[in-house]
Amino acid sequence: MYTNIKVLKVFNFMDDDSLKIWHPFWQHGLKEPIFEIKETKDEFLITKDGNKIIDGISSWWVNTLGHNNPYIVQAVKSELELMQQVIFAGFVHKPAIDTAKKLKKFLHDKFSRIFFSDSGSICVEVALKMAVGYYFNKFNKIKSKIVAMEHSYHGDTFGGMSSGAESVFNLPYKKMLFEVLRIPYPKEGYEEITIKAYENILKKEADNIGAIVLEPLVLGSGGMMFYKPFVLDELYNLSKKYDVMFILDEVMTGFGRTGTMFAFEQSNITPDIICLSKGLTGGTLPVAATVCTEEIYSAYLDKDKSKMFFHSSSYTANPVCMAAASANLDLWKDKKPLDDVKRINDYYKTKLDKFKNARILGDIFAFEIDGNQNSYTASVGSKMYEYFLKNNVLLRPLGNTVYVMPPYCIKNESLDKIFNLLENMPAF
Ligand SMILES: *Cc1c(COP(=O)(O)O)cnc(C)c1O
Repeated sequence: MYTNIKVLKVFNFMDDDSLKIWHPFWQHGLKEPIFEIKETKDEFLITKDGNKIIDGISSWWVNTLGHNNPYIVQAVKSELELMQQVIFAGFVHKPAIDTAKKLKKFLHDKFSRIFFSDSGSICVEVALKMAVGYYFNKFNKIKSKIVAMEHSYHGDTFGGMSSGAESVFNLPYKKMLFEVLRIPYPKEGYEEITIKAYENILKKEADNIGAIVLEPLVLGSGGMMFYKPFVLDELYNLSKKYDVMFILDEVMTGFGRTGTMFAFEQSNITPDIICLSKGLTGGTLPVAATVCTEEIYSAYLDKDKSKMFFHSSSYTANPVCMAAASANLDLWKDKKPLDDVKRINDYYKTKLDKFKNARILGDIFAFEIDGNQNSYTASVGSKMYEYFLKNNVLLRPLGNTVYVMPPYCIKNESLDKIFNLLENMPAF
């Protein structure tokens, strides 16, 4: 249990057997310590004993503007005193109205409707259901096959697992997943292969395909694999030619991660549906939105109840979460947070030549430890995690892929600390 690491002794970490909590994406059998956090501030997670850990991965990619943002906290407090939860069928409230209005300002007119839910996985499920239901309602057609990219990740629910890459994540459930047709990852210089593969699939069975779902520009869990914006243009144009809905899962990339507010803004197209969640509240409270076109919405608009969209979560558009989203969108006025993303990206540029195969995009810096392909269960990942943590930095490599993706408020001094550790990493 980390006995070889002296520094950690000052941490008051839990004997996890006594906790009875089953943690996510966590192998309890390894007996690695679980740390109790008592408060957070900016880029720091502060342990019970006052150790300040730099959150180099934005607490699993959700935190954009920094922990404990006073403006968002105040908005949440005020809303909490007014109401906590209200049924969202037949009722609405100010924080939801404000969020919808403010979000619309950042989006193309083509996006006419916003459907709220409560997590990234769910807003992807909603998108898939919306697309497939569109063809059913409008043309009485079952177009239930989905196209997705190899190495992709769309969440841990069954729809998310089905569209995500076949991997150790979903192996036992393989037979329970619905059919997904896959196109290869568009590696730089080989993009034509991906585009051709999609065209071939469409030529063969576009009639059965309801949607293509993609993580724009970065395959996150797949190992921070980047690709070029023109690929989105090409895949979109093919989708329209063959009448397939084009869904972008911006759950990770949304709200500035790639240097623009939404990743698709770097392409020339506007998708039919986008999925937003992680940064929607600045990373404070769980909320999600699936944004779609009037064309899709119109297929559900009828006097006939059987044509409505049959989806809801109990906590859909929770007022307190919506107040956080609304406050976050205020902080996005004039896209101010992008200045910090640029500052971080400029900092990364000064470090690029220190690492083999390093790549950067917006707030993301990534490289493979041994130049190999990504492998999630590579044991080197755990060793690196331990090394960073003992130095008060939270980085959680994806197998042998190390990446940095901090909250945008991170100080250069903290970046120095992270890169000092990366540059002086021992051989694992
Ligand atoms: C994190 C993530 C999800 C899942 O979101 P949850 O809120 O964890 O359910 C889906 N898609 C992408 C691209 C993600 O990064």
